[in-house]
Amino acid sequence: MTHPGHGVMPGLEPPTAPGPEGSQDDAGVPAVSGAAAAPSGAGGAASVLGGAALQPQLDAFLTRHEDELVAFRRDLHAHPELGYAEHRTTRLIAERLRAAGLEPRILPRGTGLFCDIGPADGTTVALRADIDALPLQDEKEHVPYRSTVPGVAHACGHDAHTTMVLGAGLFLAQQAEAGLLPGRVRLLFQPAEETPGGALDVMAAGGIAGVDRAFALHCDPRIEVGQLGLRTGPITAACDKVYVKVTGPGGHTARPHLTADLVYALAKIVTELPSALSRRVDPRSSLSLVWGRISAGSVANAIPDDGIAEGTVRCLDDDAWHRAPEMMKALLQSVAAAYDVEASLEYVRGVPPTVNEATSVQMFRDAAAQVIDEEGVVPTPQSLGGEDFGWYLESIPGALARLGVRTPGSPGEYDLHRGDFDIDERCLAVGVRVLAATALTALWEAGRPGDAEPIEGAALA
Ligand SMILES: [Zn+2]
Ligand SMILES: [Zn+2]
Repeated sequence: MTHPGHGVMPGLEPPTAPGPEGSQDDAGVPAVSGAAAAPSGAGGAASVLGGAALQPQLDAFLTRHEDELVAFRRDLHAHPELGYAEHRTTRLIAERLRAAGLEPRILPRGTGLFCDIGPADGTTVALRADIDALPLQDEKEHVPYRSTVPGVAHACGHDAHTTMVLGAGLFLAQQAEAGLLPGRVRLLFQPAEETPGGALDVMAAGGIAGVDRAFALHCDPRIEVGQLGLRTGPITAACDKVYVKVTGPGGHTARPHLTADLVYALAKIVTELPSALSRRVDPRSSLSLVWGRISAGSVANAIPDDGIAEGTVRCLDDDAWHRAPEMMKALLQSVAAAYDVEASLEYVRGVPPTVNEATSVQMFRDAAAQVIDEEGVVPTPQSLGGEDFGWYLESIPGALARLGVRTPGSPGEYDLHRGDFDIDERCLAVGVRVLAATALTALWEAGRPGDAEPIEGAALA
């Protein structure tokens, strides 16, 4: 690990005393002093955090708590719960937070919770975890923490996300007690990410009210443990469902001119909509409508009076995603009108693309430079998968980063949503370091003089 010992941003009140763990009974932990002032304008990762102050405190915290966190994750892994059924998981998180003197608030549906740390009168930064598992069989055979619930497994790493936000929260609570937290951190443990919809429950319960910025990590088995994958702009994709219904008078196939040729019209809709859409939106948005089911008619010589087409809309771009329903409705009506049939569209929203805000990504980068090797930050591509963290970023700026969970040199092709998915547990400590440092970076940078204007690039719904 490299711990660049930069100076302090002028005008800041950086931590000048070690945290409670770093100062008292952890032998071998260097005492921390206020870092020397950096030259004016020499902003950078370490400067906001007071140079070497943070890393030894995190070292000390993890020396004490890493085993507990690994055990916590193993417990969750062995007892996975599906979306909106995460009662045991919710209870365990709440109990641990209460034991640390915090006051978690359970969401109205009984699963998921959020918890504030630090004073409410400044900037608030949210760290979000998802707590639900998948309806998959755990296929790992030789691990003691294999799922004990048939057909349910933590195959998307949400047990790790939960553990890392908990760990970061416990560390930040110590910082707050020592007067070293320059704002408020809200821990969000949301239910039902896979369902999806848990993010909307959090928001309906006021979970991001007063939050200035939100951060999340997602396990990535393509990246090695110790690495952090960052990307500015969209990092996950949208996937919506569309249901088209077409109706007409029906009649004999000998006289299509006296009725409305509904099957022909439906075929036109099925072929024209994807074509027209591809010429109406920026190709870089990769918006694609693909049908999965069509149905109409029952015999060869009768024109039916109704028919349906069902499909999905996938999209990599937030702007195109917002425009898609209205555009599709207009195109559908114009094609239907040409053949004198009635058409209706039911457009069911999935999740929006998660669009990472540039400043928030930079905060991840600055934090990573403090607490992991600088080579540890790697670029990551946009995924075609969906992630309901995107809902928060429709309202507030923030970023989702990919956390490496793969053991270097390990054989096999692990992937998310597979029964054999597992993590290199060393990633838990890395995640705690990154989340804690990112929250502190965001709080310190928010307190910088002249940084009070609205945040550029905030995605607004
Ligand atoms: Zn998943
Ligand atoms: Zn996931």
